Amino acid sequence: MVQVVNSKLFKGISPKDLMEATYQASGNFQVRAFFEAKEEILKVNKFSENEFYEILDAMIEAETERKLVLKELMGNKPLFLEEIVKIVKDFPPENVIGDVIYLKEQGYVQEHVEIKTKTVIKKIKGEEKEVEVKEFFYRYQVRDLPDDFIEYYFEPVSIVFNAGVCCQCGWCSAICPVNAIVVTADTLEIDEDICMKCGLCFSVCPRSFSIDQANESIKKLDKSLKWSDKTGAYINAYSASTTKDDIKKVRQDGGIVTSILEYLLDNNLVDAIVAVQHSEELWRPEPVIVESVEDLYKTGGTKYANSPSLTIIDQCKKYEKIAFVGVPCMMKAIEKGTMFPSGLPFFKNIKYKIGLFCMESFPYDGIINLAKEQFNKDINELTKMNIGGGKFIINLKSGEQMDVPLKEVQKYARDNCHFCEDLTSDYADISVGSIGSQDGWSSVITRSKDADKLYNDIVKAGLIESKSLKDVKPGQFLVEKIGVSKRKKCKSINLKENQDGH
Ligand SMILES: Cc1cc2nc3c(=O)[nH]c(=O)nc-3n(C[C@H](O)[C@H](O)[C@H](O)COP(=O)(O)OP(=O)(O)OC[C@H]3O[C@@H](n4cnc5c(N)ncnc54)[C@H](O)[C@@H]3O)c2cc1C
Ligand code: SF4
Ligand code: SF4
Ligand code: SF4
Repeated sequence: MVQVVNSKLFKGISPKDLMEATYQASGNFQVRAFFEAKEEILKVNKFSENEFYEILDAMIEAETERKLVLKELMGNKPLFLEEIVKIVKDFPPENVIGDVIYLKEQGYVQEHVEIKTKTVIKKIKGEEKEVEVKEFFYRYQVRDLPDDFIEYYFEPVSIVFNAGVCCQCGWCSAICPVNAIVVTADTLEIDEDICMKCGLCFSVCPRSFSIDQANESIKKLDKSLKWSDKTGAYINAYSASTTKDDIKKVRQDGGIVTSILEYLLDNNLVDAIVAVQHSEELWRPEPVIVESVEDLYKTGGTKYANSPSLTIIDQCKKYEKIAFVGVPCMMKAIEKGTMFPSGLPFFKNIKYKIGLFCMESFPYDGIINLAKEQFNKDINELTKMNIGGGKFIINLKSGEQMDVPLKEVQKYARDNCHFCEDLTSDYADISVGSIGSQDGWSSVITRSKDADKLYNDIVKAGLIESKSLKDVKPGQFLVEKIGVSKRKKCKSINLKENQDGH
């Protein structure tokens, strides 16, 4: 089973160290579980034999790298991630940061959190006031490990669901090599008889362990990006509206999501898009793979019930390049899959992540009850739902518009959304929402140089009218204000209490 990894990643490593690390890596429970279940995995037919070995190689490579990083960190005092990347120079900084976070979960590394309080002057209702703010500092150190230490194993994600914090993104079910997980908009079931306890689902689940600290450190290393504690890393922020009448007919706000996706399809920048349309039941969202602009237009507009869109991502294996539209928890799920690679053939083709702003989503039944109890309407009478100016607004087939204060509808939202800190899809390539912009316009945040170039190419092509978000009212100020308020309200996740062995 031990096969010395022959990647250019390990160019600078001595053969002896590499051999030792690869030997240790092959003992990792995840690698073993995957390798030993080869027959079952191939029987399920999700992966071909070649893909199986591609995944296995990637798992051994990632694990070997971690063991080498661990070796270099032994004996050091607690260090910031930024200090660690200066010490461990053999691998790209973003790999090293991801490795440290993973080693923490495997039990090798301890996180030390220091909280400092500082006083800042803030303008509150026009008056300058002194306010105390907490600052968190995270340092990492290899634990003193006993000789008989066995690295922690990862439980299947039922532990996440049973703790009531699963956001129903569906990523785990697409990733499970033996199809043991079924995720719907409100359920998650694992077939214990099929599950081979590889823990792959846990590694990539956005609610299992946090990657926020790693993400912040990685993004801060990229000097082309600006960093905001309120809305994440970014290049620019805009307010924008589509210029196309066809899109105006189907859009939620500025029609920017549909405009970006149409441009990607028309210019062969993607072969397909994962988006969300109404299912046979109006307002019950259904994730779909679209290949044409005609089908894309059917996905326009917001469905406020949650859609487990990542459940279908494994069906996109046949495409070379795809775009994915989703809410912030899904953007984080995909990022985690990229950060902890297991070589799965379907993460590599996600070329564009278009993230929506999201304060909360609702169960489908919650939407039905909301329409009935707050507006005395049947859900089939509604042509649009919208959130704006602190109100939940509905449009009816009759042409009438009704609204209630947003606080009246919050009781219908999903409980697991209370564990979500991200308003603006911080992990997307381009984020789009309504907060900050006028009716018929969207607020847009570009989060990489490439994403900003793509956006500006679409503007140059005349498909989008665009202004700086700083030049519109209420603009960036409101996005940041609500972004902070979501972070503050977010409940913390603690799976450890439910997890044996940790
Ligand atoms: C559940 C939910 C909650 C939201 N909450 C807020 C909020 O609090 N504040 C805010 O500013 N914006 C929020 N948004 C985003 C906002 O409603 C618009 O989607 C956004 O402004 C883009 O508008 P657009 O006109 O550019 O999109 P369009 O061009 O109309 O395209 C809409 C896109 O959204 C996708 N979509 C629709 N429903 C879903 C769904 N349930 N899950 C995943 N993708 C979906 C469609 O596939 C389509 O591609 C929310 C969106 C969702 C789905
Ligand atoms: S359910 Fe999770 S732990 Fe079980 S086989 Fe699937 S991915 Fe592995
Ligand atoms: S990956 Fe998504 S669906 Fe699966 S357990 Fe985690 S949050 Fe839930
Ligand atoms: S609030 Fe968070 S968890 Fe809930 S749907 Fe939106 S992004 Fe997902």
